[in-house]
Amino acid sequence: MSTAFEQGTLPLHADAPLVTSTAFETRMLPSERLERVWAWGMADSAMSYVYRPTTVAGIRAVFELAKAKGRTIALRGAGRSYGDASIRSEEISLDLTRMKRILEWDADKGHITVEPGTSIRDIWQYTIEDGWWPYVVSGTMFPTIGGAVAMNIHGKNNFAVGPIGDHVLSFDILLPTGEIKHCSRLVNTGLFHAAIGGFGMLGCFTSITLELKKVYSGNLLVEPISTSSLAEMMKVIEERESTADYLVGWVDCFAKGDSLGRGLVHQANYLAKGEDIKPAQTLRVENQELPDTIMGLVPKSIMWRFMKPFVNDFGSRLINAAKFHSSRLSNHRSHLQSHAGFAFLLDYVPNWKWSYKPYGLIQYQSFVPKDKAYEVFMRQILLQQKYGLVSYLGVFKRHRPDNFLMTHALDGYSFALDFKVTDKNRERLWALAAEMDKLVIEAGGRFYFAKDSTLSSSRLHAYLQEERVQKFLSLKRQCDPDSLLQTNLYKRVFLSQNG
Ligand SMILES: Cc1cc2nc3c(=O)[nH]c(=O)nc-3n(C[C@H](O)[C@H](O)[C@H](O)COP(=O)(O)OP(=O)(O)OC[C@H]3O[C@@H](n4cnc5c(N)ncnc54)[C@H](O)[C@@H]3O)c2cc1C
Repeated sequence: MSTAFEQGTLPLHADAPLVTSTAFETRMLPSERLERVWAWGMADSAMSYVYRPTTVAGIRAVFELAKAKGRTIALRGAGRSYGDASIRSEEISLDLTRMKRILEWDADKGHITVEPGTSIRDIWQYTIEDGWWPYVVSGTMFPTIGGAVAMNIHGKNNFAVGPIGDHVLSFDILLPTGEIKHCSRLVNTGLFHAAIGGFGMLGCFTSITLELKKVYSGNLLVEPISTSSLAEMMKVIEERESTADYLVGWVDCFAKGDSLGRGLVHQANYLAKGEDIKPAQTLRVENQELPDTIMGLVPKSIMWRFMKPFVNDFGSRLINAAKFHSSRLSNHRSHLQSHAGFAFLLDYVPNWKWSYKPYGLIQYQSFVPKDKAYEVFMRQILLQQKYGLVSYLGVFKRHRPDNFLMTHALDGYSFALDFKVTDKNRERLWALAAEMDKLVIEAGGRFYFAKDSTLSSSRLHAYLQEERVQKFLSLKRQCDPDSLLQTNLYKRVFLSQNG
Protein backbone atom coordinates (compact mmCIF):
# COMPACT_ATOMS: atom_id res chain seq x y z
CA MET A 1 0.00 0.00 0.00
CA SER A 2 1.39 3.42 -0.89
CA THR A 3 2.06 5.84 1.90
CA ALA A 4 0.54 9.28 2.18
CA PHE A 5 3.89 10.68 1.08
CA GLU A 6 3.95 8.50 -2.02
CA GLN A 7 0.44 9.70 -2.87
CA GLY A 8 1.86 13.21 -2.70
CA THR A 9 -0.34 14.34 0.17
CA LEU A 10 2.07 14.72 3.06
CA PRO A 11 4.60 17.45 3.94
CA LEU A 12 7.78 16.51 2.21
CA HIS A 13 10.61 17.50 4.53
CA ALA A 14 10.98 16.82 8.20
CA ASP A 15 12.05 20.46 8.45
CA ALA A 16 9.33 21.83 6.16
CA PRO A 17 7.27 24.64 7.65
CA LEU A 18 3.68 23.79 8.55
CA VAL A 19 1.49 24.53 5.55
CA THR A 20 -2.23 24.49 4.93
CA SER A 21 -4.00 21.75 2.98
CA THR A 22 -4.42 24.14 0.01
CA ALA A 23 -0.67 24.62 -0.01
CA PHE A 24 -0.22 20.81 0.01
CA GLU A 25 -2.43 20.54 -3.01
CA THR A 26 -0.44 23.22 -4.81
CA ARG A 27 2.74 21.24 -4.13
CA MET A 28 1.32 17.88 -5.25
CA LEU A 29 2.98 16.07 -8.14
CA PRO A 30 1.84 12.88 -9.87
CA SER A 31 2.64 9.89 -7.68
CA GLU A 32 3.48 7.76 -10.75
CA ARG A 33 6.58 9.94 -11.13
CA LEU A 34 7.94 8.75 -7.78
CA GLU A 35 11.03 6.55 -8.02
CA ARG A 36 13.88 5.62 -5.73
CA VAL A 37 16.97 7.40 -7.01
CA TRP A 38 20.30 6.02 -5.84
CA ALA A 39 23.70 7.45 -5.05
CA TRP A 40 26.10 5.36 -7.13
CA GLY A 41 27.72 3.85 -4.04
CA MET A 42 24.26 2.67 -2.84
CA ALA A 43 24.85 3.97 0.69
CA ASP A 44 22.21 6.65 0.11
CA SER A 45 19.05 7.08 -1.93
CA ALA A 46 15.99 9.27 -2.17
CA MET A 47 12.40 9.04 -3.33
CA SER A 48 11.99 11.69 -6.03
CA TYR A 49 9.59 12.74 -8.75
CA VAL A 50 11.59 11.87 -11.85
CA TYR A 51 11.28 13.74 -15.15
CA ARG A 52 13.31 12.80 -18.23
CA PRO A 53 12.92 15.48 -20.90
CA THR A 54 14.32 15.13 -24.43
CA THR A 55 14.50 18.80 -25.40
CA VAL A 56 15.49 22.17 -23.97
CA ALA A 57 11.78 23.10 -23.99
CA GLY A 58 11.21 20.00 -21.88
CA ILE A 59 13.82 21.13 -19.31
CA ARG A 60 12.25 24.56 -19.26
CA ALA A 61 8.83 23.01 -18.66
CA VAL A 62 10.17 21.12 -15.61
CA PHE A 63 11.69 24.37 -14.28
CA GLU A 64 8.28 26.05 -14.68
CA LEU A 65 6.49 23.12 -13.05
CA ALA A 66 8.85 23.25 -10.07
CA LYS A 67 8.28 26.97 -9.65
CA ALA A 68 4.51 26.59 -9.86
CA LYS A 69 4.58 23.77 -7.30
CA GLY A 70 7.10 25.37 -4.95
CA ARG A 71 9.49 22.49 -5.52
CA THR A 72 13.25 22.19 -5.93
CA ILE A 73 15.11 20.25 -8.64
CA ALA A 74 18.20 18.04 -8.57
CA LEU A 75 19.82 17.81 -12.00
CA ARG A 76 21.00 14.30 -12.72
CA GLY A 77 23.19 12.74 -15.37
CA ALA A 78 24.07 9.05 -15.21
CA GLY A 79 24.06 9.06 -11.39
CA ARG A 80 27.75 8.07 -11.27
CA SER A 81 28.61 10.36 -8.37
CA TYR A 82 29.40 8.12 -5.41
CA GLY A 83 27.36 10.08 -2.88
CA ASP A 84 24.37 12.43 -2.72
CA ALA A 85 25.46 14.90 -5.44
CA SER A 86 22.60 14.17 -7.80
CA ILE A 87 19.81 13.13 -5.46
CA ARG A 88 17.25 15.23 -3.62
CA SER A 89 14.80 13.65 -1.24
CA GLU A 90 11.13 14.12 -1.97
CA GLU A 91 11.66 16.70 -4.67
CA ILE A 92 12.12 16.66 -8.46
CA SER A 93 14.90 14.68 -10.13
CA LEU A 94 15.59 16.07 -13.61
CA ASP A 95 17.32 13.25 -15.43
CA LEU A 96 19.15 14.36 -18.60
CA THR A 97 20.12 10.95 -19.97
CA ARG A 98 17.61 11.05 -22.82
CA MET A 99 19.24 14.21 -24.21
CA LYS A 100 22.16 12.49 -25.89
CA ARG A 101 22.33 13.75 -29.45
CA ILE A 102 25.65 14.58 -31.05
CA LEU A 103 24.98 18.02 -32.48
CA GLU A 104 28.19 18.73 -34.41
CA TRP A 105 31.43 16.91 -35.13
CA ASP A 106 34.41 18.49 -36.84
CA ALA A 107 36.80 15.61 -37.54
CA ASP A 108 39.52 17.98 -38.81
CA LYS A 109 39.69 20.06 -35.66
CA GLY A 110 38.50 17.42 -33.20
CA HIS A 111 35.72 19.65 -31.86
CA ILE A 112 32.46 18.06 -30.80
CA THR A 113 29.18 19.60 -29.63
CA VAL A 114 26.83 17.34 -27.72
CA GLU A 115 23.69 17.40 -25.64
CA PRO A 116 24.31 17.07 -21.88
CA GLY A 117 23.15 13.47 -21.54
CA THR A 118 25.68 12.16 -24.06
CA SER A 119 27.99 9.80 -22.21
CA ILE A 120 31.79 9.70 -22.30
CA ARG A 121 31.34 6.33 -23.96
CA ASP A 122 29.06 7.78 -26.67
CA ILE A 123 31.74 10.37 -27.41
CA TRP A 124 34.83 8.17 -27.67
CA GLN A 125 32.94 5.55 -29.65
CA TYR A 126 31.86 8.24 -32.10
CA THR A 127 35.24 9.90 -32.55
CA ILE A 128 37.97 7.31 -32.14
CA GLU A 129 37.92 5.97 -35.67
CA ASP A 130 38.66 9.53 -36.84
CA GLY A 131 41.69 9.50 -34.51
CA TRP A 132 40.36 11.56 -31.60
CA TRP A 133 40.05 10.66 -27.92
CA PRO A 134 38.67 12.84 -25.08
CA TYR A 135 41.44 14.69 -23.27
CA VAL A 136 39.91 13.85 -19.91
CA VAL A 137 37.92 10.76 -18.95
CA SER A 138 36.99 9.28 -15.59
CA GLY A 139 37.73 5.72 -14.45
CA THR A 140 34.32 4.73 -15.82
CA MET A 141 32.94 5.56 -19.27
CA PHE A 142 29.31 5.93 -18.22
CA PRO A 143 29.08 9.50 -16.83
CA THR A 144 27.25 12.02 -19.00
CA ILE A 145 29.13 15.00 -20.29
CA GLY A 146 26.77 17.32 -18.38
CA GLY A 147 27.55 15.52 -15.12
CA ALA A 148 31.27 15.36 -15.94
CA VAL A 149 31.50 19.09 -16.64
CA ALA A 150 29.30 19.96 -13.64
CA MET A 151 31.87 18.15 -11.45
CA ASN A 152 34.86 19.17 -13.59
CA ILE A 153 36.16 15.62 -13.60
CA HIS A 154 39.84 14.72 -13.77
CA GLY A 155 41.58 11.74 -15.30
CA LYS A 156 44.82 9.87 -14.68
CA ASN A 157 46.47 12.74 -16.59
CA ASN A 158 45.30 15.65 -14.44
CA PHE A 159 48.92 16.68 -13.77
CA ALA A 160 49.47 17.04 -17.53
CA VAL A 161 46.23 18.34 -19.07
CA GLY A 162 44.11 19.64 -16.18
CA PRO A 163 40.44 18.79 -15.67
CA ILE A 164 37.77 18.39 -18.35
CA GLY A 165 36.90 22.08 -17.96
CA ASP A 166 40.25 22.98 -19.51
CA HIS A 167 39.00 21.28 -22.71
CA VAL A 168 35.50 22.74 -22.78
CA LEU A 169 35.43 25.35 -25.55
CA SER A 170 31.95 26.63 -24.78
CA PHE A 171 28.56 25.64 -23.44
CA ASP A 172 24.95 26.79 -23.33
CA ILE A 173 23.33 26.79 -19.92
CA LEU A 174 19.66 27.25 -19.08
CA LEU A 175 19.38 29.27 -15.88
CA PRO A 176 16.42 28.87 -13.54
CA THR A 177 15.63 32.52 -14.39
CA GLY A 178 14.69 31.21 -17.86
CA GLU A 179 17.66 32.76 -19.68
CA ILE A 180 20.00 30.68 -21.82
CA LYS A 181 23.59 31.91 -21.56
CA HIS A 182 26.32 31.01 -24.00
CA CYS A 183 29.60 30.83 -22.07
CA SER A 184 33.24 30.43 -23.10
CA ARG A 185 36.64 31.88 -22.22
CA LEU A 186 35.57 35.00 -24.15
CA VAL A 187 31.89 35.44 -23.24
CA ASN A 188 30.32 35.23 -19.77
CA THR A 189 33.67 34.10 -18.44
CA GLY A 190 32.69 34.36 -14.77
CA LEU A 191 29.81 31.95 -15.27
CA PHE A 192 32.01 29.75 -17.49
CA HIS A 193 34.51 29.28 -14.66
CA ALA A 194 31.84 28.79 -11.99
CA ALA A 195 29.34 26.50 -13.74
CA ILE A 196 32.17 24.13 -14.68
CA GLY A 197 32.61 22.45 -11.31
CA GLY A 198 29.47 24.20 -10.03
CA PHE A 199 27.84 20.80 -9.31
CA GLY A 200 24.61 21.66 -11.09
CA MET A 201 23.71 24.52 -8.76
CA LEU A 202 23.77 27.41 -11.24
CA GLY A 203 21.87 26.07 -14.24
CA CYS A 204 21.44 23.16 -16.59
CA PHE A 205 23.93 22.65 -19.44
CA THR A 206 21.96 22.19 -22.64
CA SER A 207 24.90 21.76 -25.02
CA ILE A 208 28.64 21.49 -24.53
CA THR A 209 31.50 21.85 -27.03
CA LEU A 210 34.73 19.99 -26.25
CA GLU A 211 38.12 19.83 -27.92
CA LEU A 212 39.49 16.30 -28.23
CA LYS A 213 43.03 14.94 -28.37
CA LYS A 214 44.53 13.70 -31.65
CA VAL A 215 45.76 10.13 -31.32
CA TYR A 216 47.73 8.12 -33.86
CA SER A 217 46.99 4.69 -32.47
CA GLY A 218 44.23 2.92 -30.59
CA ASN A 219 46.87 1.76 -28.12
CA LEU A 220 48.90 3.26 -25.31
CA LEU A 221 52.28 2.03 -24.13
CA VAL A 222 51.79 1.03 -20.51
CA GLU A 223 54.51 0.36 -17.94
CA PRO A 224 53.79 -1.04 -14.45
CA ILE A 225 56.19 0.03 -11.68
CA SER A 226 55.97 -1.75 -8.35
CA THR A 227 56.68 0.51 -5.35
CA SER A 228 57.53 -0.69 -1.85
CA SER A 229 56.35 2.43 0.01
CA LEU A 230 54.39 5.63 -0.47
CA ALA A 231 57.64 7.60 -0.53
CA GLU A 232 58.87 5.46 -3.43
CA MET A 233 55.54 5.87 -5.25
CA MET A 234 55.79 9.65 -4.98
CA LYS A 235 59.41 9.58 -6.14
CA VAL A 236 58.46 7.49 -9.20
CA ILE A 237 55.62 9.86 -10.06
CA GLU A 238 57.82 12.95 -9.67
CA GLU A 239 60.59 11.48 -11.80
CA ARG A 240 58.17 10.62 -14.59
CA GLU A 241 55.60 13.43 -14.58
CA SER A 242 57.38 15.51 -17.22
CA THR A 243 57.45 12.66 -19.74
CA ALA A 244 54.35 10.59 -18.91
CA ASP A 245 50.94 11.17 -20.48
CA TYR A 246 49.17 9.26 -17.69
CA LEU A 247 50.27 8.22 -14.20
CA VAL A 248 48.16 6.47 -11.60
CA GLY A 249 49.06 4.68 -8.37
CA TRP A 250 47.32 1.90 -6.52
CA VAL A 251 48.04 1.64 -2.77
CA ASP A 252 47.64 -1.40 -0.50
CA CYS A 253 46.10 0.24 2.57
CA PHE A 254 46.41 -2.96 4.64
CA ALA A 255 50.22 -3.14 4.52
CA LYS A 256 52.02 -2.19 7.73
CA GLY A 257 55.48 -1.37 9.06
CA ASP A 258 58.16 -0.94 6.39
CA SER A 259 55.59 -1.79 3.69
CA LEU A 260 53.17 0.96 4.71
CA GLY A 261 51.87 2.60 1.52
CA ARG A 262 53.29 -0.02 -0.84
CA GLY A 263 51.66 -0.27 -4.23
CA LEU A 264 51.96 -0.05 -7.96
CA VAL A 265 52.22 2.84 -10.43
CA HIS A 266 51.07 2.62 -14.03
CA GLN A 267 52.56 5.00 -16.55
CA ALA A 268 50.98 5.24 -20.00
CA ASN A 269 52.06 7.16 -23.07
CA TYR A 270 50.48 7.87 -26.45
CA LEU A 271 52.20 6.39 -29.48
CA ALA A 272 53.75 8.96 -31.81
CA LYS A 273 52.61 9.19 -35.45
CA GLY A 274 54.01 6.21 -37.37
CA GLU A 275 54.75 4.05 -34.32
CA ASP A 276 51.57 2.04 -34.84
CA ILE A 277 51.76 0.41 -38.27
CA LYS A 278 48.03 -0.36 -38.38
CA PRO A 279 46.32 2.60 -36.74
CA ALA A 280 43.11 2.15 -38.75
CA GLN A 281 42.73 -1.25 -37.06
CA THR A 282 43.69 -0.35 -33.49
CA LEU A 283 41.42 2.70 -33.67
CA ARG A 284 38.35 0.60 -34.47
CA VAL A 285 35.70 0.61 -31.75
CA GLU A 286 35.62 -3.18 -31.55
CA ASN A 287 39.34 -3.23 -30.78
CA GLN A 288 38.73 -0.89 -27.85
CA GLU A 289 35.73 -2.65 -26.32
CA LEU A 290 36.28 -4.36 -23.00
CA PRO A 291 35.78 -8.15 -23.28
CA ASP A 292 32.45 -9.64 -22.10
CA THR A 293 34.07 -12.70 -20.57
CA ILE A 294 37.06 -13.51 -18.39
CA MET A 295 39.48 -15.73 -20.34
CA GLY A 296 36.71 -16.28 -22.89
CA LEU A 297 34.75 -18.37 -20.39
CA VAL A 298 33.15 -16.65 -17.42
CA PRO A 299 30.61 -13.97 -18.38
CA LYS A 300 31.69 -10.77 -16.67
CA SER A 301 28.10 -9.91 -15.82
CA ILE A 302 28.16 -12.51 -13.02
CA MET A 303 31.67 -11.70 -11.77
CA TRP A 304 30.43 -9.45 -8.98
CA ARG A 305 28.99 -12.58 -7.31
CA PHE A 306 32.46 -14.16 -7.24
CA MET A 307 33.87 -10.95 -5.79
CA LYS A 308 31.38 -10.85 -2.93
CA PRO A 309 33.19 -13.38 -0.66
CA PHE A 310 36.30 -11.15 -0.90
CA VAL A 311 34.58 -7.88 -0.08
CA ASN A 312 35.43 -8.03 3.60
CA ASP A 313 38.58 -7.26 5.60
CA PHE A 314 40.06 -10.74 5.31
CA GLY A 315 39.38 -11.12 1.57
CA SER A 316 40.48 -7.61 0.68
CA ARG A 317 43.70 -7.93 2.69
CA LEU A 318 44.44 -11.07 0.66
CA ILE A 319 43.57 -9.49 -2.70
CA ASN A 320 45.65 -6.40 -1.97
CA ALA A 321 48.66 -8.50 -0.93
CA ALA A 322 48.28 -10.76 -3.99
CA LYS A 323 48.07 -7.73 -6.26
CA PHE A 324 51.22 -6.26 -4.75
CA HIS A 325 53.24 -9.48 -4.98
CA SER A 326 52.13 -10.16 -8.55
CA SER A 327 53.11 -6.61 -9.46
CA ARG A 328 56.70 -7.60 -8.59
CA LEU A 329 56.59 -10.15 -11.42
CA SER A 330 55.42 -7.70 -14.07
CA ASN A 331 57.60 -4.84 -12.85
CA HIS A 332 58.72 -2.60 -15.78
CA ARG A 333 57.29 -5.00 -18.37
CA SER A 334 55.81 -2.53 -20.83
CA HIS A 335 52.89 -3.60 -22.97
CA LEU A 336 50.35 -2.12 -25.36
CA GLN A 337 46.82 -1.56 -24.11
CA SER A 338 43.79 0.07 -25.75
CA HIS A 339 42.74 3.54 -24.62
CA ALA A 340 39.45 2.16 -23.28
CA GLY A 341 41.20 -0.78 -21.58
CA PHE A 342 43.61 1.53 -19.75
CA ALA A 343 41.16 4.32 -18.95
CA PHE A 344 38.13 2.33 -17.83
CA LEU A 345 39.63 -0.30 -15.58
CA LEU A 346 36.68 0.15 -13.22
CA ASP A 347 34.27 -0.98 -15.96
CA TYR A 348 35.91 -4.40 -16.38
CA VAL A 349 33.52 -6.05 -13.98
CA PRO A 350 30.01 -4.72 -14.62
CA ASN A 351 28.16 -3.74 -11.45
CA TRP A 352 31.08 -4.68 -9.20
CA LYS A 353 29.55 -2.34 -6.63
CA TRP A 354 26.86 -4.97 -6.03
CA SER A 355 29.49 -7.03 -4.24
CA TYR A 356 29.25 -4.29 -1.54
CA LYS A 357 25.54 -4.98 -0.97
CA PRO A 358 23.44 -4.55 1.09
CA TYR A 359 24.79 -1.26 2.51
CA GLY A 360 27.01 -0.16 -0.36
CA LEU A 361 30.23 1.82 -0.32
CA ILE A 362 31.41 5.39 -0.06
CA GLN A 363 34.51 6.90 -1.58
CA TYR A 364 36.63 9.38 0.32
CA GLN A 365 38.96 11.41 -1.92
CA SER A 366 41.09 14.24 -0.59
CA PHE A 367 43.59 16.49 -2.35
CA VAL A 368 46.69 17.73 -0.53
CA PRO A 369 49.45 20.16 -1.60
CA LYS A 370 52.63 18.45 -2.74
CA ASP A 371 54.80 19.34 0.25
CA LYS A 372 52.28 18.03 2.79
CA ALA A 373 50.92 15.08 0.82
CA TYR A 374 53.28 12.40 2.13
CA GLU A 375 52.63 13.18 5.77
CA VAL A 376 48.85 13.55 5.42
CA PHE A 377 48.34 10.40 3.36
CA MET A 378 50.61 8.28 5.58
CA ARG A 379 48.58 9.47 8.56
CA GLN A 380 45.35 8.66 6.71
CA ILE A 381 46.54 5.08 6.20
CA LEU A 382 47.53 4.78 9.86
CA LEU A 383 44.19 6.23 10.97
CA GLN A 384 42.27 3.68 8.85
CA GLN A 385 44.27 0.90 10.48
CA LYS A 386 43.71 2.35 13.96
CA TYR A 387 39.95 2.51 13.38
CA GLY A 388 39.96 -1.00 11.88
CA LEU A 389 38.24 0.52 8.82
CA VAL A 390 40.67 -0.01 5.99
CA SER A 391 39.90 0.99 2.40
CA TYR A 392 39.63 -1.98 0.04
CA LEU A 393 40.92 0.14 -2.84
CA GLY A 394 43.32 3.08 -2.63
CA VAL A 395 44.06 5.16 -5.74
CA PHE A 396 46.77 7.81 -5.85
CA LYS A 397 46.96 10.61 -8.45
CA ARG A 398 49.06 13.67 -9.21
CA HIS A 399 47.22 16.96 -9.88
CA ARG A 400 47.79 20.51 -11.04
CA PRO A 401 45.84 23.66 -10.13
CA ASP A 402 43.20 25.18 -12.46
CA ASN A 403 41.15 28.38 -12.73
CA PHE A 404 37.68 27.12 -11.85
CA LEU A 405 35.90 28.72 -8.89
CA MET A 406 34.95 25.50 -7.10
CA THR A 407 38.02 23.53 -8.13
CA HIS A 408 39.06 20.45 -6.22
CA ALA A 409 42.50 20.26 -7.79
CA LEU A 410 45.78 21.77 -6.62
CA ASP A 411 49.49 21.32 -7.11
CA GLY A 412 49.71 18.08 -5.22
CA TYR A 413 48.26 14.62 -4.90
CA SER A 414 44.92 12.98 -4.25
CA PHE A 415 44.17 9.73 -2.49
CA ALA A 416 40.80 8.04 -3.21
CA LEU A 417 39.65 5.42 -0.71
CA ASP A 418 36.72 3.00 -1.10
CA PHE A 419 35.08 2.03 2.18
CA LYS A 420 32.50 -0.67 2.64
CA VAL A 421 29.49 0.57 4.60
CA THR A 422 27.76 -1.77 7.03
CA ASP A 423 24.90 -1.27 9.46
CA LYS A 424 27.42 -1.32 12.32
CA ASN A 425 30.32 0.77 10.97
CA ARG A 426 28.50 3.82 9.61
CA GLU A 427 29.00 6.08 12.59
CA ARG A 428 32.67 5.15 13.02
CA LEU A 429 33.28 5.55 9.28
CA TRP A 430 31.92 9.09 9.37
CA ALA A 431 34.09 9.78 12.46
CA LEU A 432 37.16 8.46 10.61
CA ALA A 433 36.32 10.73 7.65
CA ALA A 434 36.01 13.71 10.01
CA GLU A 435 39.46 12.96 11.48
CA MET A 436 40.97 12.60 8.02
CA ASP A 437 39.25 15.85 6.95
CA LYS A 438 41.01 17.67 9.78
CA LEU A 439 44.42 16.58 8.49
CA VAL A 440 43.51 17.69 4.96
CA ILE A 441 42.19 21.08 6.05
CA GLU A 442 45.23 21.79 8.24
CA ALA A 443 47.43 21.03 5.23
CA GLY A 444 45.47 23.44 2.98
CA GLY A 445 43.86 20.58 1.05
CA ARG A 446 40.55 20.11 -0.74
CA PHE A 447 37.68 17.71 -1.32
CA TYR A 448 35.69 16.63 -4.35
CA PHE A 449 31.87 16.76 -4.48
CA ALA A 450 31.62 13.90 -7.01
CA LYS A 451 32.99 11.52 -4.41
CA ASP A 452 31.80 13.05 -1.19
CA SER A 453 29.37 11.59 1.34
CA THR A 454 30.75 12.80 4.64
CA LEU A 455 31.79 16.46 4.49
CA SER A 456 30.07 18.88 6.88
CA SER A 457 29.18 22.50 6.34
CA SER A 458 31.83 23.80 8.76
CA ARG A 459 34.54 21.73 7.11
CA LEU A 460 33.41 22.95 3.68
CA HIS A 461 33.74 26.55 4.85
CA ALA A 462 37.15 25.78 6.34
CA TYR A 463 38.64 24.35 3.16
CA LEU A 464 36.97 26.53 0.54
CA GLN A 465 37.28 29.64 2.71
CA GLU A 466 34.61 32.28 3.16
CA GLU A 467 35.46 34.48 0.19
CA ARG A 468 35.08 31.64 -2.31
CA VAL A 469 31.89 30.34 -0.67
CA GLN A 470 30.32 33.82 -0.72
CA LYS A 471 31.34 34.39 -4.35
CA PHE A 472 29.66 31.14 -5.35
CA LEU A 473 26.53 31.85 -3.32
CA SER A 474 26.26 35.34 -4.77
CA LEU A 475 26.44 33.89 -8.29
CA LYS A 476 23.83 31.32 -7.30
CA ARG A 477 21.51 34.13 -6.17
CA GLN A 478 21.92 35.82 -9.58
CA CYS A 479 21.41 32.65 -11.66
CA ASP A 480 18.91 30.93 -9.42
CA PRO A 481 17.17 33.58 -7.25
CA ASP A 482 14.49 31.13 -6.00
CA SER A 483 17.07 28.44 -5.18
CA LEU A 484 15.32 26.03 -7.53
CA LEU A 485 18.40 23.85 -7.98
CA GLN A 486 19.25 21.87 -4.87
CA THR A 487 20.64 18.45 -4.08
CA ASN A 488 21.09 16.61 -0.81
CA LEU A 489 24.81 17.36 -1.10
CA TYR A 490 24.14 21.09 -1.49
CA LYS A 491 21.79 21.03 1.47
CA ARG A 492 24.29 19.11 3.60
CA VAL A 493 27.37 21.22 2.91
CA PHE A 494 25.94 24.65 2.11
CA LEU A 495 22.59 24.99 3.88
CA SER A 496 23.00 22.87 6.97
CA GLN A 497 24.00 24.57 10.22
CA ASN A 498 25.31 21.34 11.67
CA GLY A 499 28.85 20.06 11.98
C1 LIG B 1 33.55 3.78 -10.92
C2 LIG B 1 33.69 5.28 -10.95
C3 LIG B 1 34.90 5.85 -11.30
C4 LIG B 1 35.05 7.24 -11.34
N1 LIG B 1 36.25 7.77 -11.68
C5 LIG B 1 36.41 9.11 -11.67
C6 LIG B 1 37.65 9.70 -12.05
O1 LIG B 1 38.59 9.00 -12.40
N2 LIG B 1 37.75 11.04 -12.03
C7 LIG B 1 36.69 11.84 -11.68
O2 LIG B 1 36.86 13.05 -11.68
N3 LIG B 1 35.51 11.32 -11.34
C8 LIG B 1 35.34 9.98 -11.33
N4 LIG B 1 34.13 9.44 -11.01
C9 LIG B 1 33.03 10.35 -10.66
C10 LIG B 1 32.18 10.74 -11.88
O3 LIG B 1 32.98 10.96 -13.01
C11 LIG B 1 31.45 12.03 -11.56
O4 LIG B 1 30.68 11.86 -10.42
C12 LIG B 1 30.56 12.54 -12.68
O5 LIG B 1 30.08 13.80 -12.30
C13 LIG B 1 29.39 11.60 -12.94
O6 LIG B 1 28.63 12.08 -14.03
P1 LIG B 1 27.08 11.71 -14.13
O7 LIG B 1 26.63 11.99 -15.51
O8 LIG B 1 26.86 10.36 -13.60
O9 LIG B 1 26.45 12.83 -13.19
P2 LIG B 1 25.63 12.70 -11.84
O10 LIG B 1 26.41 11.93 -10.86
O11 LIG B 1 24.25 12.28 -12.13
O12 LIG B 1 25.63 14.25 -11.43
C14 LIG B 1 26.83 14.88 -11.08
C15 LIG B 1 26.57 16.38 -10.88
O13 LIG B 1 26.28 16.98 -12.12
C16 LIG B 1 25.08 17.74 -12.05
N5 LIG B 1 24.52 17.68 -13.39
C17 LIG B 1 24.17 16.56 -14.09
N6 LIG B 1 23.76 16.92 -15.33
C18 LIG B 1 23.86 18.27 -15.40
C19 LIG B 1 23.59 19.23 -16.43
N7 LIG B 1 23.11 18.89 -17.63
N8 LIG B 1 23.81 20.54 -16.17
C20 LIG B 1 24.30 20.92 -14.96
N9 LIG B 1 24.56 20.06 -13.97
C21 LIG B 1 24.35 18.75 -14.19
C22 LIG B 1 24.28 17.05 -10.95
O14 LIG B 1 23.35 17.91 -10.36
C23 LIG B 1 25.39 16.67 -9.98
O15 LIG B 1 25.72 17.75 -9.15
C24 LIG B 1 33.94 8.07 -11.00
C25 LIG B 1 32.72 7.49 -10.68
C26 LIG B 1 32.58 6.11 -10.66
C27 LIG B 1 31.25 5.51 -10.31
